[in-house]
Amino acid sequence: MNIEGMLKYQSLDRELNQLNEKFRTSDATVQYNRYMKLYKQTIEDGKRMSGVAGEHFVNLDRLTKQYEKLLADVEEYNTGINEITDLKQADYYEKQLIKLYTAIESVEKELDNLRKELVKLDADAKAFFANANGYFVNVKKATPEMEKVKVEIQSKAKEVMAAQKELEKTIEPELVEKYKKAKEIAKFPPLVPFDEATSSCMGCGLELSKDIVAKLRQDGGLEFCPNCNRLVYKQ
Ligand SMILES: [Zn+2]
Repeated sequence: MNIEGMLKYQSLDRELNQLNEKFRTSDATVQYNRYMKLYKQTIEDGKRMSGVAGEHFVNLDRLTKQYEKLLADVEEYNTGINEITDLKQADYYEKQLIKLYTAIESVEKELDNLRKELVKLDADAKAFFANANGYFVNVKKATPEMEKVKVEIQSKAKEVMAAQKELEKTIEPELVEKYKKAKEIAKFPPLVPFDEATSSCMGCGLELSKDIVAKLRQDGGLEFCPNCNRLVYKQ
């Protein structure tokens, strides 16, 4: 088994990880992500605000209709009052009007509250547009620098991946397959040596079972560590 080749492949994987990390932590990427996050948060706030505004307008429509209906009723009663012929009837009209005026007052109160909410929403909406626009401008400004860093790092990564592809041709497919499996499920590095002195996995330090050790001692033995899932090889 071409363990040496596989280890070289692994060191190229480490280089790729470092390149990814370099991109992720570069000033340009950090700046870009920060503005992007703020922009996305602002858009979410905007969506919520738009939902609240929608509810307010539905309420406004309902209250306005209620108010108009009450005013029409009052007018009708007022017209009726002119034709009152006895006290009993006058008393009835008066009671009805008091009821209507109370209802009108309560609708007016609701409308006033709604008006206050809309004034607040208007201020929030203005702040929203200013924020969203500001963050968008910042995202746009931060993009070219981030793209520049990305292109630079990607071109380096492509070189490393090309070298890996060449190297892979010299390694037994079975070994490559096992390595890739370990890489998927274990922490880096996925390929670690067997420690003869302590019969343990050098990835996590677990003392391996006699059964696994026996298999490792066979020529070209390669075993997965049951604890850390790394691929253990015997030097
Ligand atoms: Zn282990």
